[in-house]
Amino acid sequence: ATPMSVMVGVGKAAESGVLIRNGEALQTASKISVMVLDKTGTITQGSPQVTDVVVTQVSSCGEDEVLALAAGIERHSEHPLAEAIVETANSRGIQMEAVEDFNAISGRGVEAKLNGQTLLFGNQALMQDFGVDTQAYQAKAQQLAAEAKTPMYLAQENELIAIIAVADPIKPDSAEAIARLKHSGIKVVMLTGDNQATAAAVAAKVGIETFFAEVMPQDKASKVAELQQEGEVVGMTGDGINDAPALALANVGFAIGTGTDVAIESADITLMRGSLHGLADAIAVSKATLRNIK
Ligand code: ADP
Ligand code: MG
Repeated sequence: ATPMSVMVGVGKAAESGVLIRNGEALQTASKISVMVLDKTGTITQGSPQVTDVVVTQVSSCGEDEVLALAAGIERHSEHPLAEAIVETANSRGIQMEAVEDFNAISGRGVEAKLNGQTLLFGNQALMQDFGVDTQAYQAKAQQLAAEAKTPMYLAQENELIAIIAVADPIKPDSAEAIARLKHSGIKVVMLTGDNQATAAAVAAKVGIETFFAEVMPQDKASKVAELQQEGEVVGMTGDGINDAPALALANVGFAIGTGTDVAIESADITLMRGSLHGLADAIAVSKATLRNIK
C-alpha cells in the first residue's frame, strides 16, 4: 500500500478506537489466518469475584477465617485472582491474617507462613507439587469449573482446608466479536493458564472450539511459534505481562487498552475500547487499505 493509503487506514481505525502503531501491522492484519486470544482480561473482564467458599470437613475454620487466611496471603500478590480475594475480605469486613515469607509460584499460586505453619493457595498443580491430597474435593472443584468458575485450593500444613472459587464475567460482546472473526474465515484459538474445565466452559460460552489450558506463562509464545511453523499468519490478543512475549512474536500483536503497559508496548495495535470488536474492525480497515492500492 502507498504511504498515503496507510495513513488513511490508520486514521480510519483510530476513529473506532483501534490504535495502529506501524503501517506494516495494518497491512499484515488482512492476512491473519489464526487469531489467538488470551482468556482472562481479554475475553473476560479481568475483574474476578468470589462466588463460593467451601470449607472442608477436616478444617476447624469458618468461611470468614478461611477468607482471612487467603486474603492475608493474596494481599502480597498482584494477580487478578488475588485482587478478588482481598476485595471480598475487605467488603465483608474481615481482618486479614499477617502472614510472612510470601512467595509467588508462577502459573500455580502462592505460599506463605503463619505462626510457623505453611499456607498454600492456588491450583491443583500447586497442591500436587506439595503432596496435598485433594481427592475428596475434586468432584466439587470440577463442578465449580464446569460453571466457568476458577476453583482455588487453600491448604494449611499440607492439609486441604478450603476451596474458594472466583468467576470472571465474560465481556458482553466477546461472543459476537468472535463470531465476526470466524465469519471472515479466521480460526480462533484461546490460550489460558487457567484449568482445563474452566477454560472449556468459557470457550463454549463464546463459541471457541479450539483452546489450550494450563499453559505456563513462558509457553504462550511457544504456542504462537508452533502455529507459525504450521504456516499460519498469527494474530495474538492479550492484556497481561504473561502475554507480552507472545504479542511481540505474533505476526500482529493486539493489546487490550485497559491491560498492562508491558502488553501495550509489546503489541502493534491497541484496542482502546477493550472490546474484541476492534479485531474485526482492524482487519476490515486493513483489507480496505490494500484494496485501495490495487
Ligand atoms: P492466567 O492469568 O491466564 O489465569 P496464570 O499463569 O497467571 O494464568 O495462572 C494460572 C493459574 O495459576 C490460575 O488460574 C490459578 O489457578 C493459579 N494462580 C496463579 N496465581 C495465583 C494467585 N496469586 N492466587 C491463586 N492462584 C493463582
Ligand atoms: Mg490476561
